[in-house]
Amino acid sequence: MLTLEDLRKQVPNAQLLGESGLVPIAYLLTDTRKLLGGEGALFIALAGPRHNGHDYIETAYEKGVRQFIIARTPKKIHADAIYLLVDSPIAALQTLAKMHRAQFDLPVIAITGSNGKTIVKEWLSKLLSTEKVVAKNPKSYNSQIGVPLSIWEIKPKHEIGIFEAGISQVDEMSKLADIIQPTIGIFTNLGSAHDEGFQSRLQKLEEKLKLFIHCKSIIACADQPLVYEELTQKFDQSQLVLWSSKKGHAYQIDYEKTGKRTIIHVQAADEYFQFACSFTDHASLENITHAIVTALHVGISASHISQELLQLAPLSMRLSLKSGQKNNLLIDDTYNNDLAGLQIALNFLNQQSAHKSKTLILSDLLEAGMNPSELYQQVAEMIKASGVSKLFLVGQQITSYQHYFDEIPTQTFEHTEGILASGSLDTLQNEIILVKGARVFTFEKIIAYLQEKVHGTSLEINLNHLVHNLNFYKSKLKPSTKTMVMVKAHAYGSGSEQVANLLQNQRVDYLAVAYADEGIALRKAGIHLPIMVLNVDEATFDLLVKWELEPVIYSLKIFKSLAAHLKDSPLGIHLDLDTGMHRLGFEPAHIEELITLIHAHQHLNIKSIYTHLAGADEANLNDYSKEQLDLFEWMSRRILVELPYRPLLHALNSAGILRFPDKQYDMVRLGIGLYGLEVNGMAQQELLSISTLKTTISQIKYLKKGQSVGYSRKGMLHRDSVIATIAIGYADGFDRGFSNGKALVSLNGHLVPTVGNVCMDMTMIDITGISAKEGDEVIIFGPQNSLKALADAIDTIPYEILTGISERVKRIYFEE
Ligand SMILES: *Cc1c(COP(=O)(O)O)cnc(C)c1O
Repeated sequence: MLTLEDLRKQVPNAQLLGESGLVPIAYLLTDTRKLLGGEGALFIALAGPRHNGHDYIETAYEKGVRQFIIARTPKKIHADAIYLLVDSPIAALQTLAKMHRAQFDLPVIAITGSNGKTIVKEWLSKLLSTEKVVAKNPKSYNSQIGVPLSIWEIKPKHEIGIFEAGISQVDEMSKLADIIQPTIGIFTNLGSAHDEGFQSRLQKLEEKLKLFIHCKSIIACADQPLVYEELTQKFDQSQLVLWSSKKGHAYQIDYEKTGKRTIIHVQAADEYFQFACSFTDHASLENITHAIVTALHVGISASHISQELLQLAPLSMRLSLKSGQKNNLLIDDTYNNDLAGLQIALNFLNQQSAHKSKTLILSDLLEAGMNPSELYQQVAEMIKASGVSKLFLVGQQITSYQHYFDEIPTQTFEHTEGILASGSLDTLQNEIILVKGARVFTFEKIIAYLQEKVHGTSLEINLNHLVHNLNFYKSKLKPSTKTMVMVKAHAYGSGSEQVANLLQNQRVDYLAVAYADEGIALRKAGIHLPIMVLNVDEATFDLLVKWELEPVIYSLKIFKSLAAHLKDSPLGIHLDLDTGMHRLGFEPAHIEELITLIHAHQHLNIKSIYTHLAGADEANLNDYSKEQLDLFEWMSRRILVELPYRPLLHALNSAGILRFPDKQYDMVRLGIGLYGLEVNGMAQQELLSISTLKTTISQIKYLKKGQSVGYSRKGMLHRDSVIATIAIGYADGFDRGFSNGKALVSLNGHLVPTVGNVCMDMTMIDITGISAKEGDEVIIFGPQNSLKALADAIDTIPYEILTGISERVKRIYFEE
């Protein structure tokens, strides 16, 4: 076991501060929001572009951590803690991982390439697990930080390791190669991902291949010419294990597609194998072939590979968050259940609504190579640290270790049917419930039982994409610029509590809502970020104080009435200056009287001063925008000189962030861009769509030419037609303007038009010639058929459609 003292000897200029607390390092932590291990936890203070781990050292200490790697001396040195002071904490983390790796003598497979790394890793690990105990990266932890954290997870029980390595610029790969020390390499393929970090694709390839310098064998497909050429130049013939659709390489592969399946013929030097899988697309077959060839190469028997292959499913590592009955929130994670997966799910649980009590429904774990007693002891530790207050255990194995969990009120069941029949699920209310089961336990049934039952239309929100979009806009900001996110109108229809919670975890600086009651709902959901309220009136003044909400003051009248109402009690406020939007706000003529009021009522603390641009999204209004910004600078300066303190200044919305990078002032106000939309396409390439509106087919009818569909007989059929009725109407927010072919929706990969008038709860679509059945999913908008196109069809903007999706449409949140 390694200690900080062992590490000190290997890191140049490293110095230990304090001497107590030196115990073998057991867990590595870089993020205090994640759950913490107990004794042996080590916190590494990493500096990111916006957040610095050094600011969280005290938080980590409070959570029980006593060992730290730091780059500058902390304000407070605790007597019972120990600190390793180094030049670069990330380099120290990498050295530590390298030392850890060197303690194990096992075959390690390293995967790199542009696409498919995670899938190849997961599928290959399934094939290898039939005969060996496998160590691998959780999810796609493949970066300069993710790889060392993953390597740290190698334990004596492991017989083989599989780690993926991803890079985005030069000089990164040799560091990862030193850490992973792979004996076998897999190169998946070369594509365009991360091109921008390199001068050429060749340079990127050369950099990636550095991973394999010490590998005994390298597995790759010989059919990409550039890849083939580089591999044969850089490496010795004896190292290369190539597969190809042509003759002359170690493995010749032939795909035979038979409807829903593919038979893979594998011809090796003196052996022939045949495997079947349920994939037919090119990318999946390429990934599967890498997995098969590697598994054969390390000696896994063909019969084990065959058995596993048929069970491989498209990778779904998605956690989803759904609303349950009785005001419960459900986290659905019924795909797999091993230790790493449980930890990820518990972290996710821990980041949700602070105000609900937490319940966990957990099945037996499938974790190879660990004796059950040790396994469940560890599970119990993790659960205790996660704040779960009620536990349901399902399965013969886990229930026999029930005594480990006795600090938490626990109910046990041998089978899933038992918990469903028991009635105990009916007692859950106002809770957040994590449902985590291995596949064989079919916990989908528990989800179905607990889930809110509404009609078949749902809006799916991809939380990873939301974070991606947030980071895209943050990358456009100076490090000192703060971010306010507009979560008004239920976060543009996406659900304000969940979105706000995510933003709070992502450490944005401010939130803004339209009305006080939206702000109150956020406070009740445990959001403690400062919240600005755009529209206030006298009726809500007391609530603002009670819930610490900060109103926007936009007129002399409302300033006076708020000041009079509050008497002397303090409140943070924001000033809206009207520089040309002509909606709300103080005009230049109001400034002097405003200043008099500010002096007279100093208990009103001005947190910020802002203006809103009328045409940030239109290039032809640039001059107008610049005039607005000039006026804003003049008006705000006039107020600032009167104040003994300095409020934040801000002006830019999503489009403004891209158009006026030098006008960020102290903060920006991000809105629609976060939700993956852009009015004029300035960043549409980089943004990811976050929402998918889905419904289902209720009925299919076969109608004759001359018959009509729907109200007023508007849908006259000019040919024999197949018509499907779908479960969405204008009451769900599917605008009546979409009637009679105005909208195209997606069904099994085809775009199909509406027919007849949209009804209140239903719409008919023409599916003539398309194979479909009742119950099939219909996508109203999503990554493939864009919301923008739908909005254009009825001359509106995406904002209106998104915010018009009615409350009865259930929101489902995914995290990958
Ligand atoms: C809604 C709103 C924004 C955000 O605008 P987007 O175009 O969605 O980025 C910014 N500021 C104010 C005052 C707003 O009302």
